Amino acid sequence: MLPFPGAPGGFGSCDHPSAVAAITNPDPNDNEKGDGMKVPAWNPAIEFMEREALERQQLASLRKTLEWALETSFYRRRLTEVGLTHPEDLASLRDLRNLPFTTKEDLRAAYPDGLLAVDREQVVRLHTSSGTTGMPTVIYHTQGDIDRWTELVARCIVATGATARDVFQNMTGYGLFTGGLGLHYGAERVGMLVIPASSGNTGRQLQLMKHFQTTVLHATPSYLLHLHSALAEEDVAREQLGLRKAFIGAEPHSEQTRHKIETLFGIKAYNSYGLSEMNGPGVAFECEHQAGLHLWEDAFILEVIDPQTGQTLPEEETGEIVMTTLQRRATPLLRYRTRDLSRLVGGHCPCGRTHRRVARILGRSDDMLIVNGVNVFPSQIEGALMKMPEVGTNYLIQLEKRGALDRLVVKAEIRAHLFAGDRETLSALRGRISERLRSAILVKPVVELREPGSLPVSEGKAQRVVDLRPAF
Ligand code: ADP
Ligand code: ZN
Repeated sequence: MLPFPGAPGGFGSCDHPSAVAAITNPDPNDNEKGDGMKVPAWNPAIEFMEREALERQQLASLRKTLEWALETSFYRRRLTEVGLTHPEDLASLRDLRNLPFTTKEDLRAAYPDGLLAVDREQVVRLHTSSGTTGMPTVIYHTQGDIDRWTELVARCIVATGATARDVFQNMTGYGLFTGGLGLHYGAERVGMLVIPASSGNTGRQLQLMKHFQTTVLHATPSYLLHLHSALAEEDVAREQLGLRKAFIGAEPHSEQTRHKIETLFGIKAYNSYGLSEMNGPGVAFECEHQAGLHLWEDAFILEVIDPQTGQTLPEEETGEIVMTTLQRRATPLLRYRTRDLSRLVGGHCPCGRTHRRVARILGRSDDMLIVNGVNVFPSQIEGALMKMPEVGTNYLIQLEKRGALDRLVVKAEIRAHLFAGDRETLSALRGRISERLRSAILVKPVVELREPGSLPVSEGKAQRVVDLRPAF
């Protein structure tokens, strides 16, 4: 018997071949909702599942995950400490709150295989995080894990309205970074024509887009802005491209940056959130309505906690995202503290999907800068800058120490023609940017105006902050 009757294929205690059958939806665009409206979905039985059934399935999956976790010495010790020795000890989903958190430090301490819950022979792949904040962490996958991850990504792609008729250019790094292979497998499963361009080599990217009439691409928002500035250099006109959509993620970005990307290219850009500890891309994605990111709740349980007290916060309150895997056989993770800050969005999405939505990620709790005692998030600076039409596509935040005081320097590329103007105009613009930033972050920065293309560009995650203050 399948443990989850709601799932087309379900999955068993070991990797069951039926998991593969679960992900071959015959025609994702031929899905009739109750009201006769056609809503494209990859796996409608799951995506539109009644909440009650979804939560019943979550509880069953959570118990299964506990069973798998108890196979690792790490979780056996952790769970025994709180009196949980058998999966059935968990009476309800709410009881999850009584389980200990898993932190990035735990994953690092368990490196390389302390959290592996199956025999090595059963795993087919490993991925590591990018190591943005220190030593990378490793996640192993069985074939079933890869298949289920692929389905999650396929659901995301179809939810944006993309179809098998699209040409998909994947501009994120292939390799240990999950953005490349993760989206690649999902796009192939949908049946798109995939161009595995990987990151970098902007000239070639534009040629590929032109020659194969790419309609959908995947990139970091910062790279996409850079790509746009390269259009003129490479002598490519926007009209020569067939681009309609972009999937943007892997780094925090503001609504204003999305708006800028959409306007510059004349496309729709959908926010994609993922982290290697939760597979990678395919965790949460915007649907066609762009009203928050649907999180696949049959695969993950999401909690938002107060990072100081660890208490679960009510819907709509901003805090740290904590996630539990529900389907990952090789590396189950319980209450993983992502350090990412966001909130759960209340209400129903017009698309009809029942899986809850998270709001745009503000950044990581450890991204927060303290400038002369004031808390500042780089995303606030980005939001204010990108609202100003004079500002171009790249910027850099630098922190320095002047005596006892912190000094915040914001270097912003501005549009080329503005440099043709006189000194007074530039000085007035500098003052205006500084004033806008002050009202957004309550700190008055020193603003430096830069020419387009003069600040460093990253092919992957952008490095926006340089902290030159001595560490104590
Ligand atoms: P690392 O943690 O070393 O950067 P990952 O490649 O796993 O490694 O990156 C995942 C992280 O990237 C997330 O925890 C989050 O901080 C950031 N991220 C991913 N997608 C988004 C997004 N759409 N918006 C904001 N931040 C994102
Ligand atoms: Zn939706």
